[in-house]
Amino acid sequence: MTSAVPADDVDERAELRALVRQIVAKEATPERVRALDEAERFDHDLYRALGQAGLVGLEASADGTERADPRSQVVVLEELGAGPTSMAVCLVVQYMGVHLLASHGSEAQRKGVLAPLLEGRIRVAFALTEPDGGTDVARVMRTRAVARDDGSWVLDGAKTWISGAATADHAIVVARTASAEPCAVDGITLFLVPLSARGVEVRELQTVAIHGLDTCEVRFADVVVPAEAVLGEPGRGFRQVLATLNGERLNAAATALGIARGAHEAAVAYSRERQAFGRPIGGFQAPQHRMVDDAVRIEAAGELVRKAARAEALGERADLLSAMAKLAASEAATQAADNGMRVMAGAGLSREYAMQRYFRDARLYTFAPLTDDMIRNYLGERLLGLPRSF
Ligand SMILES: Cc1cc2nc3c(=O)[nH]c(=O)nc-3n(C[C@H](O)[C@H](O)[C@H](O)COP(=O)(O)OP(=O)(O)OC[C@H]3O[C@@H](n4cnc5c(N)ncnc54)[C@H](O)[C@@H]3O)c2cc1C
Repeated sequence: MTSAVPADDVDERAELRALVRQIVAKEATPERVRALDEAERFDHDLYRALGQAGLVGLEASADGTERADPRSQVVVLEELGAGPTSMAVCLVVQYMGVHLLASHGSEAQRKGVLAPLLEGRIRVAFALTEPDGGTDVARVMRTRAVARDDGSWVLDGAKTWISGAATADHAIVVARTASAEPCAVDGITLFLVPLSARGVEVRELQTVAIHGLDTCEVRFADVVVPAEAVLGEPGRGFRQVLATLNGERLNAAATALGIARGAHEAAVAYSRERQAFGRPIGGFQAPQHRMVDDAVRIEAAGELVRKAARAEALGERADLLSAMAKLAASEAATQAADNGMRVMAGAGLSREYAMQRYFRDARLYTFAPLTDDMIRNYLGERLLGLPRSF
């Protein structure tokens, strides 16, 4: 797709984009992506290749002093989102893990987990959502950790919809450790838990999308972890997570942007080839207009993603831009995939084409990490200055 985005924005990371494209072209051919999607299997080879190329760590350093540049992260995620989408979802989680470990990890945690994570040798899962609460999880959190006299903790509870837990090495688990005072987000602590720990049970859930990455329920039954498993400050865990939200929203937006682009490019290509009434269907006004609208939404979402990433990188206010980018990109992705299905008609339902996968995968970022409704609530309050609506 030709882009109307100013060259300086794109070219700034042209080399990085070219590198990701090169790895995807070699390791994640459309046939392989399709086969792994059908088999519901994670692409270990692709993850290894991304790790070896430094794309998990990017500019981050294992001592936590250097952080990955959000402008680099969104490029990697957009490119992966457009092809092996599940790997982009996996990296959204890894980037969050990197951020939390670099910001709050002890020396031992940085050495033992952050360093191999940056090299793509291990993976983490992030376990926040619970069966009784996604959007409102802090208020209803049932996963608890109780401190013992020797400083160790005992974890009990259940998390659900946890990406990659069946194949990751560690989970960052969000658990209540004290009463919700003065508000629901207080009294919550982060724990870095090996997924092989005694009492941890991981069960894969059956989902219709993101088939290249397992989605799991994780149960904790009397799981004993040492004092050193606490990540950051006890009781401040949810606030530590909230501080990563801009980055996570932005990275979700970049992945959704990639999905939008992948679906849109596939639709345009198909519309050039497929004939009806003696001409390509792309020459008919109805499909053409839909695809033009998609191109406009993608361009607008891309600009918001880049603008938000630039603001975040420069330490400027980025919360509103990240929230807007997430809304625009999730809308662009669902619309482009829906229009792609319309353009392809019967072929849209064929598993031989990627469109049905984009159509399924695009759903994720309408509600994760935060639902689009909640993002609108946030923008209503913070952007428009209206009374809080929830
Ligand atoms: C494939 C997949 C991967 C995931 N990966 C992870 C992961 O790795 N780690 C993790 O912790 N979680 C993960 N999640 C969970 C995800 O973050 C939650 O699904 C999301 O936060 C929404 O929570 P919910 O599904 O419980 O929706 P609910 O909270 O039940 O919301 C249902 C509906 O109510 C609306 N609603 C609720 N409250 C309000 C309000 N105040 N105003 C307006 N509307 C409202 C919502 O917008 C939504 O439309 C994943 C989910 C899936 C399906």
